Amino acid sequence: MIIRTGVLYDGTMRAPRRNVDIVVENGAVREIRDASGDCDREAACVTPGMVNAHVHLEMSGQPDPLTISNQLNAVQRTLHAVDNAAKTLRAGVTTVRDVGANDAIAIEIRDAIEQRRIPGPRMRAAGKVLCMTGGHGWPIGRAVDSPWEARKGVREQRLAGADCLKLIATGGVLTKGAVPGVAQLTIEEMSAACDEAHRHDMRVAAHAIGTEGIKNALRSGVDSIEHGHMLDDEAIALFNERGAYLVPTLTAPTCILEHAETGGQPEYVVRKAREINEHMLRNIRRAFQAGVKIAGGSDAGTPFNFHDKYADEVVLMHRLLGMTPQQALHAATAIAAELVGLHRGMLSAGEPADLLLLEADIERDLNTLARPVAVMKGGSWVQRACAAYAGTFA
Ligand SMILES: [Zn+2]
Repeated sequence: MIIRTGVLYDGTMRAPRRNVDIVVENGAVREIRDASGDCDREAACVTPGMVNAHVHLEMSGQPDPLTISNQLNAVQRTLHAVDNAAKTLRAGVTTVRDVGANDAIAIEIRDAIEQRRIPGPRMRAAGKVLCMTGGHGWPIGRAVDSPWEARKGVREQRLAGADCLKLIATGGVLTKGAVPGVAQLTIEEMSAACDEAHRHDMRVAAHAIGTEGIKNALRSGVDSIEHGHMLDDEAIALFNERGAYLVPTLTAPTCILEHAETGGQPEYVVRKAREINEHMLRNIRRAFQAGVKIAGGSDAGTPFNFHDKYADEVVLMHRLLGMTPQQALHAATAIAAELVGLHRGMLSAGEPADLLLLEADIERDLNTLARPVAVMKGGSWVQRACAAYAGTFA
């Protein structure tokens, strides 16, 4: 299979290459060379498949997904996850990290995709989130209230099949009564969880919005901070000192606020998102400018934040953080892939042939990412009509 493109962004910050052929063999890129002779397919622009480092596949963007998720039974939640996995892939997202699901749903979805029983992206799955009793995310959480319980929580997720871990370091938006600025799991609990997870080669993500919780999580040794909206200068220094990633999930509060009036969302969700949004707009840009590694992740599944809308996160990184289109793509491919740890998220010889055919150069029109002409995962074209379950939730 030879794919010819007018311009190739390989996922890195190297200058894009013009008029090249991508030779795909056995699911991987064999070589990239100057265009010549016949080809099988042509596109104006080719990029790697996008990588979304923060999703919840069982949540479908309902106005109050945590409550709704609790009202659904396991079969219904699983069907949502199956449907969302297909939507994700069709939208050009070829790799995701699911950072919190009921039971072992995301883990089973990951395995079913790997075994080619259902369509979907390459996946890592954290299993249940580890939170304090009554902490943010408890409806999809495993409560841990001491360092030893935290270790046990990690061991349980690993036994269930999790290949990464999610900790709740502060309150959050969607859980009633949880205050985003307030620290939740302690340094002792998170340090124990990180030690246990890293021993088993599981990377650790921490949900952290408030300043103190962000720094607690970084000092505990987490690999990434999710959200991070109230970070300060000391937190920025900690990020850079420890090489931790920031996954800013810009789409999450943006979608909640876009639907503030009409959405049927609980009042506390809109109020908390409004507060967070101000911090987010100020702080995440500063972190990017200070050299913090920003990895793309959208919190897909949260209100009106649909799994086939990840391109919006890339556009927001460009618009709100001042990234160039190529930098935003880099964050949503190679950097996110580095964090997820399944592959390098770039198009070069030997890498998986996960790629998007686009109708325009992203430097001219970044929105072109939202409507890929074709999506390839592992050397196979993704079928447009691969939705297994066309469910919508009223
Ligand atoms: Zn999340």
